[in-house]
Amino acid sequence: MIDLKNLTIEKAHADMKSGVYTPTVLANACLEVIKQKNAEINAYVEVYPDVLEQAKTAEEMFANGTATMMTGIPISLKDNMLRDEYTASASSKILENYTATYSAGIVSQLKGAGVVFMGRTNMDEFAMGSSTETSAFGNTKNPLDTTCVPGGSSGGAVSSVAMDGALCALGSDTGGSIRQPAAFTNLVGLKPTYGAVSRYGIISMGSSLDQVGPIAKNVSDCEILFNAINAYDKNDGTSVPVENRIKPSPLKKKIGVPREFLKGDGIDPVVLGNFDQACEKLKNAGYELVDVSLPLLKYSLPVYYILMPAEVSSNLARYDGIRYGESHAGGKLFDTYAKTRGQGFGKEVRRRIILGTYILSHGYYDAYYNSAVKIRSAIKNELQNAFKDVDAIITPTTPTLPFKFGAKSKDPVSMYLLDIFLAPANIAGVPAISVPSGSSNGLPLGLHIMAPFHREDILFTIGKDFEKLV
Ligand code: GLN
Repeated sequence: MIDLKNLTIEKAHADMKSGVYTPTVLANACLEVIKQKNAEINAYVEVYPDVLEQAKTAEEMFANGTATMMTGIPISLKDNMLRDEYTASASSKILENYTATYSAGIVSQLKGAGVVFMGRTNMDEFAMGSSTETSAFGNTKNPLDTTCVPGGSSGGAVSSVAMDGALCALGSDTGGSIRQPAAFTNLVGLKPTYGAVSRYGIISMGSSLDQVGPIAKNVSDCEILFNAINAYDKNDGTSVPVENRIKPSPLKKKIGVPREFLKGDGIDPVVLGNFDQACEKLKNAGYELVDVSLPLLKYSLPVYYILMPAEVSSNLARYDGIRYGESHAGGKLFDTYAKTRGQGFGKEVRRRIILGTYILSHGYYDAYYNSAVKIRSAIKNELQNAFKDVDAIITPTTPTLPFKFGAKSKDPVSMYLLDIFLAPANIAGVPAISVPSGSSNGLPLGLHIMAPFHREDILFTIGKDFEKLV
């Protein structure tokens, strides 16, 4: 019996290399867990029918000496990542029967490395949400406490790992969707620098904010998976050529704490207490902690909720009942559009399309969209200035602990506020990671660390130092 609960990528690789078990045995162990738990947890919306065929290919790679760190590793794909000839639906009815005609850049890269894609995971519809409650395919439960949400939008992704149905997962993060669910399930989640990982073949939400990233059990595994997808892709116009990326340099071992940003309403005192303890632990690990004043950071969330819906309204215009997926024919062409979109999209998606269309409409464009663009660049500058003095900036990952189903879904603004600490990294394009920081009454908490552009190495170094102390 493989001890999946404690199995890391590193350990599985060593085991498979030395022949303790084969990729097929490992894949079967995960399939067995999925069979037992998925009916309740609903992490996967589909288990791929070719899991064992992929494991066979991995086995051949071990046999012929071409295996790498990710070969034979069971991984889940979020339902917004295209895999050639398989369905990808963004957990929306409108794409329920859509079959991808090509593979995403990251899918091709990982296929080359010989991973075993287990299946596609449930998510908030088109990645809009923080609890996976907006999926057209039902809620995903938090494996740590099935009365609680797993976070979102990558709720299925984190639950696939937390229930041991995969060793790691890929999620996407537009305003926190990797980091927040990772914190809610005691996992590590990284949003890489904008442009570090290919977005080619990822169903877009907000194109200037979206990034794909790894979810894993510890920081080392997160780094291994990041290294496997951290590459230039000529098919993605925003992919940054490797030679243009900032190279690692020694750390100052100095971390900034934006104290005034932690004073907002709605931040659970338990979260603040845990954060203070995390600060003490980092000091004990030899880091100097300094207060940094970042007065613009609090505008990141309002800016996000202007820019993101604007980009959503434009990106989702393509689902018109003609080009992709579901179609409900009406009398005239316009009726086909209206019927298809009215019936195919869920409520939250329609809310954001309407909001975005309003924001971009003549007469309001300057007041909303253009103002938000200006504040976005001011936030970026403010962060870049702060990083001249400190290696990283830390906050809690989320203002609350994992919550019960239905607790926030009736009040969208309370749901939106969950991303208060997470949106700045997407707005500025810098990398950020969530690392488990302990628990309260059995529910997990996370520490959020932000670093300058292309300095994921800083996040891994601090993350590993911190992990040892929790
Ligand atoms: N919770 C945020 C939202 O609903 C973030 C979503 C995401 O990162 N995909 O927009």
